[in-house]
Amino acid sequence: MGDYPVLPAKSLKSGVELHKIVDENKEQLLGQKCIEKFGGVIPFLLKILSIAKALPLQLHPNKDLASKLHKENPKQFTYDNHKPEIAIAWGHFEVFAGWMPTSEIQALFDSLPPLQKFLPNKQAKCDNETLRSVVETKLKPSDESIKECQRELREIPRENYGKHTYVLDILPRLQDQYSIEDPANLVVLLYVPGTPPPLFSTMNFLTLPASSAIHVPADCPHAYLSGTIAERIARSNNVLNTGFCPRASRTNISLFTSAH
Ligand SMILES: [Zn+2]
Repeated sequence: MGDYPVLPAKSLKSGVELHKIVDENKEQLLGQKCIEKFGGVIPFLLKILSIAKALPLQLHPNKDLASKLHKENPKQFTYDNHKPEIAIAWGHFEVFAGWMPTSEIQALFDSLPPLQKFLPNKQAKCDNETLRSVVETKLKPSDESIKECQRELREIPRENYGKHTYVLDILPRLQDQYSIEDPANLVVLLYVPGTPPPLFSTMNFLTLPASSAIHVPADCPHAYLSGTIAERIARSNNVLNTGFCPRASRTNISLFTSAH
């Protein structure tokens, strides 16, 4: 809900689009401060989401990148703004967001040999560039190698997963919702890099009870798995999707891995 020109809200009474109503009544509806700061538009969008199936693994570019992408490709990136999000859970809400500490992902790689093939040259330690290459390797492998990695992961004893046994519970659901070939299966569960620190990390898996909230800043990878939420986001629909979406929509893998 908002005055963004893509799918704008409309007046129930007249059918007039919200941006036209706001345009004609800026002073009353927005106030001077808001007009000065945000240029006479409603600065946020409100969404109510009921998530039965995982939403795409994505991130929203920061202001500088959004403005560059908008200039280069205004059809795909329709506005030059960033899109940080706040999501408030209305019930049990499952989400992957951001990175876990280096030490934990390092331990995962050590105890789960099928993942080691994604490490360039089998290096034990990685710098940022190496880590970016790990994510890219995970997002771009052949269907067959994605399948093979998940088959091997299933064969590893539960106790080797330590506190990450949720991997074994979530994986079949994600495979069922999208396909075993979706590379996001590997990325969300056993993810990757960030700016220092940490150098070596994986995505955080969170389950939030009703009334709790999460803030997802610009450039932060996230995938919402299930739940009903109210979401307030900055006025933009710029997004880089890389998984849990049709193959044709996975067009921004290099941008995704270089944005953070
Ligand atoms: Zn998002």
